[in-house]
Amino acid sequence: MRPRIAVGLALLLASACRPADDGLASYRLVAMATWVDLSLPHGATARQPGLIASIERELGRFERNYYAWGDGELAALNRALTETGHGEASDELAAVLSAAQEIARTTDRAFDPGVGPLVELWGFNSGERSDAETQGERSDAEATGERGDAGGASRGVSPDAGAIATALAASGSILDLVIDGTRIDVADGVGRRFTLDLGGIAKGVAVDRIVELLESRDIAPALVNAGGDLRVVGMRPDRPWRIGVAATRGDGVLGIIELEPGEAAFTSGDYERYFEQDGERLHHILDPRTGYPATRTQGLTVIAHDGTEADAAATALFVAGDDWREMARTLGIDAVLRVDAEGRIEMTAAMRERFQVGAEAGLDIIAAD
Ligand code: AMP
Ligand code: MG
Repeated sequence: MRPRIAVGLALLLASACRPADDGLASYRLVAMATWVDLSLPHGATARQPGLIASIERELGRFERNYYAWGDGELAALNRALTETGHGEASDELAAVLSAAQEIARTTDRAFDPGVGPLVELWGFNSGERSDAETQGERSDAEATGERGDAGGASRGVSPDAGAIATALAASGSILDLVIDGTRIDVADGVGRRFTLDLGGIAKGVAVDRIVELLESRDIAPALVNAGGDLRVVGMRPDRPWRIGVAATRGDGVLGIIELEPGEAAFTSGDYERYFEQDGERLHHILDPRTGYPATRTQGLTVIAHDGTEADAAATALFVAGDDWREMARTLGIDAVLRVDAEGRIEMTAAMRERFQVGAEAGLDIIAAD
């Protein structure tokens, strides 16, 4: 489906706000291939006129610098690592890469940004940026955090087994890197191709950065929602923050989770970017060890203390399949909801305590992938 509005116009619309009766006003920006919705105290932007523009600038910077295939910092680092075996990163990117490397180590590479060449081979790398080219592939439904269609899967056919094996053998892992401050060297895997894809963690980092920006300006309560992946700041005056977890098939919500101040809820799902072939759903979350889409889970939602941790953990636990409980313990994540391949809902005890089945009334947002 074609978007109804061009990107430039969508960005302008960001300055229009919709007052609500709960004291919060909503703003919509476009970044990182999704809508980013902000709920801020009514009057906050009048008191701080440059606020929305600063957030927009920050998101634009992220979109450019954290995209593996563009012309930003990560893309340049990927080229340097592949061509010379070493590269330099900014403090900020080096810190994200270190965090990602730690998660790759803890999860035995269920999470590994080194999966980039496979993501590219499957055709799931388009749609990561909200530039004019990829904007056309996004449906309105997907952008509002609801069920997406197959947008972003530009190829629509499975690569053949030989091509997957070749790409797998040629790909460098984030575990092959030595990160020393801002200097990055390929220790093992020299001669491999490094296409580090931070798509499984960058949205969490971006959400955290916006939350920091809001906190530094004393703006609370607030909700930062990047296409259904979100974090809250402070407490609403009237009731707790309530997040609906979207059903993995069909419309509606599975239930509601209440969030404490500062918490993030991130979801990884097989329904956001996928295509079907011979009755099989082939989606964008790959097992870096096999090169194929992870098969045992439809959707997985994590609550954590920040967006970075929640985002990476949701991707890793999705790939973990039936071993998700053990991996969640290793990662120190205690609130997890999983919908397995048969559509059955499983939860940790900590998630069960705050999960209510059904009830769509009074929701802040529906968390989808
Ligand atoms: P998410 O929606 O946060 O689970 O992230 C999915 C995105 O992360 C994909 O579109 C890929 O760009 C990338 N990705 C896919 N599989 C993995 C993986 N196993 N580890 C790290 N990143 C991945
Ligand atoms: Mg993720």
